[in-house]
Amino acid sequence: MLDRLISKIQNFSLVVVFLALVYLVYSYYDTQQFKNNPIPSSMQEQIDQKAKEIEVIIQKVYNIDFQVPIYVSDKLPKQAFGITFMNKQNKIAIYLNKNVMRESFDYMIEDVLPHEYAHALLFRVQRGYAREGDGHSLEWQEICLKLGGSRCDRFVNHEDVIREKLRM
Ligand SMILES: [Zn+2]
Repeated sequence: MLDRLISKIQNFSLVVVFLALVYLVYSYYDTQQFKNNPIPSSMQEQIDQKAKEIEVIIQKVYNIDFQVPIYVSDKLPKQAFGITFMNKQNKIAIYLNKNVMRESFDYMIEDVLPHEYAHALLFRVQRGYAREGDGHSLEWQEICLKLGGSRCDRFVNHEDVIREKLRM
């Protein structure tokens, strides 16, 4: 009787170990898939839709017809969710960090996009005139809030604004 019970428990343990292995292999495969492919279209659509919403607000509030290309990249530093970049020709682009996108997708949509758009709009308005500490200025914060950002924290401790002109 006891022997049978023990053998049942052992069988059960084997099943658990097997399922855990299946899960591990699956999640490894899943992670690799995400890493090696463009992001799923459902995610891309949500990004596009949020971008559209923000651009509509910019049109309404600032009367500026503003479209910014948004790229998903796995080359961003790990601590940056997004980066706003302006090159020497005053072309502006937003990069979103693919490496943290899956765990933080809602945050990316609701907070990072308005945050980066506020930088992008300031770049556009200032047209490359560098200002001291223009990263998370009061002006930036005001725009970020108007664009629907819910956490427009001025004192985030990462550098997410790159102005190529400053490096000349
Ligand atoms: Zn920022």
